[in-house]
Amino acid sequence: MENFRIVEKTGKETGRTVVIMAGVHGNEICGINAFEKLLPELKLDKGKAIFIYANLEAIKQKKRFVECNLNRCFLKKQPDEVKNTLEGKTAVQIMKILDSADILLDIHASNSVDSVPFVIGEEITWKFAKVMPVKIVSFNWDEFEEGATDAYMNNLGKIGLCVECGYVNDPKGQERAETAILNFLKKAELLKGKVKETKDQKFFKITSLYKNKYGPFKKVNDFADFGYLNEKTLIGHDGDKEVFAEKEYNIIFVRDRQDLGQECFVLAKEQN
Ligand SMILES: [Zn+2]
Repeated sequence: MENFRIVEKTGKETGRTVVIMAGVHGNEICGINAFEKLLPELKLDKGKAIFIYANLEAIKQKKRFVECNLNRCFLKKQPDEVKNTLEGKTAVQIMKILDSADILLDIHASNSVDSVPFVIGEEITWKFAKVMPVKIVSFNWDEFEEGATDAYMNNLGKIGLCVECGYVNDPKGQERAETAILNFLKKAELLKGKVKETKDQKFFKITSLYKNKYGPFKKVNDFADFGYLNEKTLIGHDGDKEVFAEKEYNIIFVRDRQDLGQECFVLAKEQN
């Protein structure tokens, strides 16, 4: 059996083909719940929307992933350690669907308790990023996070963006996911109706991704996503080594890590 499920909606008139994904990380259920709420009633005016429940086994187990992070598997050439995993194989099948689509919206939630909702989207996606119900747009991820769904689309010269709907257990996440889906469908002209841009969005450029080199990584604090570091700040310990950020960075996704070479945190800078 396949590790993903598809619901397709087609409008009366021809139009774009879009993909909307949820459950790429199985514990981030806001997008799944939004699908359940919206899809039974949803009728498109134009084009085709393919809704994908992306990692059914992880969704069932309420886990981020089963064998490896699905959101690093969207690569034309997958590394050997990915190829034979459940998620590696799942990505190969979903990539065929992405190849047929013009635009992707991928719905996620953050594991940080203090997370604010934000978009991950390169400059070509900003037309869509600007109608997402978030105050923060972050970009320049592709060079650090190879194999992400949005990066896969961008590499094909297509629009792929990801919306992070807040903390995984925030009950407002589902509402944000629903708004994101409807606004996205309107902006892509699959649904009729005007959609307003979100006011006062801030733009952050991702500048680095830290992977642990010496041992397990332990954070010293639960840093809020996009929290501002106004002085040199101890972030955590990589084995016995202290890891600092220089001042004037914003920090995202700080996580404890056991195995070497894992993603521990990301730094970003606000663009004016
Ligand atoms: Zn996620």
